[in-house]
Amino acid sequence: MDRRKKAPHVACAQQLVNSGLRGKARWLAVWFALLSFSPSAAEPANAPQPDLSAESYIEWRGGTLAPAGTLEIDGRRMDCGQYPTVLDPDYADFGGAYARFLVLNPQRFGGLASPVKLWIYSHECAHQTVGSDEVKADCAAVHRGRREGWLTASGLEQICEFMRPARQDRQHFGGAQRCELMQKCFRQDNKPLRR
Ligand SMILES: [Zn+2]
Repeated sequence: MDRRKKAPHVACAQQLVNSGLRGKARWLAVWFALLSFSPSAAEPANAPQPDLSAESYIEWRGGTLAPAGTLEIDGRRMDCGQYPTVLDPDYADFGGAYARFLVLNPQRFGGLASPVKLWIYSHECAHQTVGSDEVKADCAAVHRGRREGWLTASGLEQICEFMRPARQDRQHFGGAQRCELMQKCFRQDNKPLRR
């Protein structure tokens, strides 16, 4: 797949393009367990508004709404305060952060290891507090993983492996450098390493 594909909007860590597309139904069953669903309604594209809501996004692009506090990733409830998540299988990246909600692409998540999924979600969530700074979002996601207990040293290795092919672009360092910076964040927490 084209790894140079440009991610939209805040375009995150996930400028990589996964090669293993999987069925939406399978993904919904296996990957996310949502407490509620809303029907998706694909509409012809219009220009997104800066204050776009999750509901407006769904009307615009399609997708499924996971209201704030209802998202589970591989059995773990993940929240981002008041911000809901739109699950959009056509989103051009693994995930993204809009001002009032997050977007995840279930198709691209299908084959990823749990720590990678949790880290991506946490990275996108972190944009709600650190703004567009990608290094800070990476680091905040690592700290969150350690704090919540889902990120171990081996999990970070999986994230680094996932990031390795990522190229540098205007917003992001290359994958190797991002990995190095995240390892530094990991060590800052100064907790015993678990494997
Ligand atoms: Zn980002």
